[in-house]
Amino acid sequence: MSQSIDSSPPQIHQILERTWGYETFRPLQQEAIHGILERRDSVVVLPTGGGKSLCFQLPALVEDSGLAVVVSPLISLMKDQVDSLVASGIPAAYFNSSLTPRQQDIVARRLLDGAYRLLYVAPERLVGGGSDRFCQLLAECRPLYVAIDEAHCISQWGHDFRPEYRQLGRLREVFPGISLHGFTATATERVRQDIAAQLGLREPQFLVGSFDRPNLFYRARRRQGFYRQLRAVLDRHVGEAGIVYCQSRKEVDKLSARLRDDGFRAVPYHAGLSDADRHRFQEDFLNERADVVVATVAFGMGIDRSNVRYVVHAAAPRSLEHYQQEAGRAGRDGLEAECALFYSPADFMTWRRMLADSGELDESALQQMREMERYAAQTRCRHRSLVEYFGQELPGESCNACDWCLGELEAAGEPVVLAQKILSCVLRLRQSWGVGQVVDVLRGRATAKVTARGHDRLSTYGLLAEVPIPELRGYVDQLVDGGFLVPSGDRYPVLHVTPLGRRLLKAEVPCELYRQQAPAKSGSGSGRRDEVDWEGVDRQLFESLRQHRRGLAAERQVPPYVIFPDSVLRDLARYRPTSREGLLAIRGVGEKKAEDLGPSFLRLLAEHSAEHGLETDLTPAAGAPAAAAPIPARPRRRRIAGGAFVEASKLFAAGTAIEEVATALDRARSTTVGYLERFLEQTPEADVATWVPAETVERIRAAREDPDLIFERWKDYFDYFEGAISYGQIRLVLAFLKAREEPVPALEP
Ligand code: ADP
Repeated sequence: MSQSIDSSPPQIHQILERTWGYETFRPLQQEAIHGILERRDSVVVLPTGGGKSLCFQLPALVEDSGLAVVVSPLISLMKDQVDSLVASGIPAAYFNSSLTPRQQDIVARRLLDGAYRLLYVAPERLVGGGSDRFCQLLAECRPLYVAIDEAHCISQWGHDFRPEYRQLGRLREVFPGISLHGFTATATERVRQDIAAQLGLREPQFLVGSFDRPNLFYRARRRQGFYRQLRAVLDRHVGEAGIVYCQSRKEVDKLSARLRDDGFRAVPYHAGLSDADRHRFQEDFLNERADVVVATVAFGMGIDRSNVRYVVHAAAPRSLEHYQQEAGRAGRDGLEAECALFYSPADFMTWRRMLADSGELDESALQQMREMERYAAQTRCRHRSLVEYFGQELPGESCNACDWCLGELEAAGEPVVLAQKILSCVLRLRQSWGVGQVVDVLRGRATAKVTARGHDRLSTYGLLAEVPIPELRGYVDQLVDGGFLVPSGDRYPVLHVTPLGRRLLKAEVPCELYRQQAPAKSGSGSGRRDEVDWEGVDRQLFESLRQHRRGLAAERQVPPYVIFPDSVLRDLARYRPTSREGLLAIRGVGEKKAEDLGPSFLRLLAEHSAEHGLETDLTPAAGAPAAAAPIPARPRRRRIAGGAFVEASKLFAAGTAIEEVATALDRARSTTVGYLERFLEQTPEADVATWVPAETVERIRAAREDPDLIFERWKDYFDYFEGAISYGQIRLVLAFLKAREEPVPALEP
């Protein structure tokens, strides 16, 4: 093994560009890569979608030879990562129980031959110790380093503890001289320290990225008529991928069946399904045969579909950490995505019951639930509260990506009076009732529970009869969040007025209350990011590219995102390159993929652009931001006084060639052809034969006039001439002929 490592930036930049097609590193990627190249143990915490994989994959390509080992908890995850690596031209394999003995032998042999740069293995493979056959084999390959993906699984403080991860601490005994690197998206300090301790890391480097996910739009609402609320989200994401999390298996079954009845491609997922069904539904989702997964929390890690555009919670999760994990499965590709939480205090009662049953209900679990409840009801920036919960700060005033910052919460008039009415109702009810009864009394609803106790005779009965129930419940939540009310009680939360609430009753302290507004009907519901991420993208072309990607993925038996992520498809539909160079300029297109997949994508782009008269080869502005950056590159064009068409017409009138006009005006060829089309239509004395050979004009004219042939689109001509006549020539000749056609005499009425 060579110890002289060239970790100079130019080399890793070159690999990044050639292999992955990215020009710049994401935050902390470079530091993490250097850590590995220097063989310094590390714990790297980057948010979901932050690009962890690349950190431990790229160093394996820096040296001339050597093997990197990646520990990964799930078989499906390993396969996807290896498929992606191979698609990018990196020799990689996995070794796990899904391989037949024969396949295992082949991998083992190739390993010894030094055929792989990266090997993915399940944790239990590595803990057999020095006497284990596989470990011996691996030791012979002298691995350079071991990266542990989803490293929080090693900690029982994490949200996904796996006992088999515990023994990874013995790795160094088995492979002396290696460095160890834990990677996770889990944010708490306690888990990070535990990872380092359990793995026995030596003076590890801790690299902790920002937990904020600027491309996610957060929204929280009181649950009220949930199916209608859910449909509103789904309607904003027609044909896009999403996850709906429910609290129970029963709800999952019911909701997924209802969605299917209503025509959605929805599948269920929970631990009560057979292994075969779970596997099938997950595959359906990953391979884009299903759009919506309705699931319990059992659906989680290993979901590598990067283009999940929304995550809906039909109930509050048990902690903000769970929320961040689950909602975080949206938008891994860095593009906009919506996270909608629909909650009710009843959710926390259910959690209490479930955690009590499993023996997990302790003070820390209760505290976590309270934090979650606060988040749901709060009236402040949701990005800010999330990052603050994890001990970081959010720079800037507004996140521009949550219901609060985008003004979906409207200030209620006379909030102090409103609050006083609610607080005095709680007192009149002797602080012995929950929010349901308080709301019923304030609304003046003569339910059996209200009349039986004589609550309909209280002075606060019907005091807020005009306020809709969800709005009123929202105010109660906000008073709890503000510390004016506190729910307590073991089995059933009963509202009490706090000392601060008593001061509010005397109007000694201020308070603000907000009403929830419906989000905008149009767009994906993801605010400004939505407009930005779609800017300049031809949506019809994007859909065609998606379909094409699905076909290729099915042929190659890999998930579609292994072919290209959505961010690449959007850039293709935005810039419409026509050459290999143009393709390589798109972020996320490396050399191997350009070679393998390029021709078929270029063909589709050319056909679609020609057929729809779209300008091609638009160039991303220099230094255009990466997919996750806030503002996308917008193609820039030189402005021409008086308009480019007028200018072009003058040149055409002088018989100037298309190429020359395109150069003179700094316009793409296809745009210039469009100008010439218009010029030919509007200028009776012009002759198309100036730009298209007369013989070609004649062939098109003859075909057009042949009564046995029917042409509807440019493509029909293109196919008829078997590609021998270009789209540009077809467009020009047809425009010319049509404009000079004898008008068909109108029939007598
Ligand atoms: P994580 O494992 O941290 O959730 P991934 O490794 O799956 O994230 O990366 C998320 C996406 O970001 C992938 O599509 C990946 O190719 C892309 N990505 C990684 N690094 C970069 C980079 N430097 N520039 C642009 N995209 C990147």
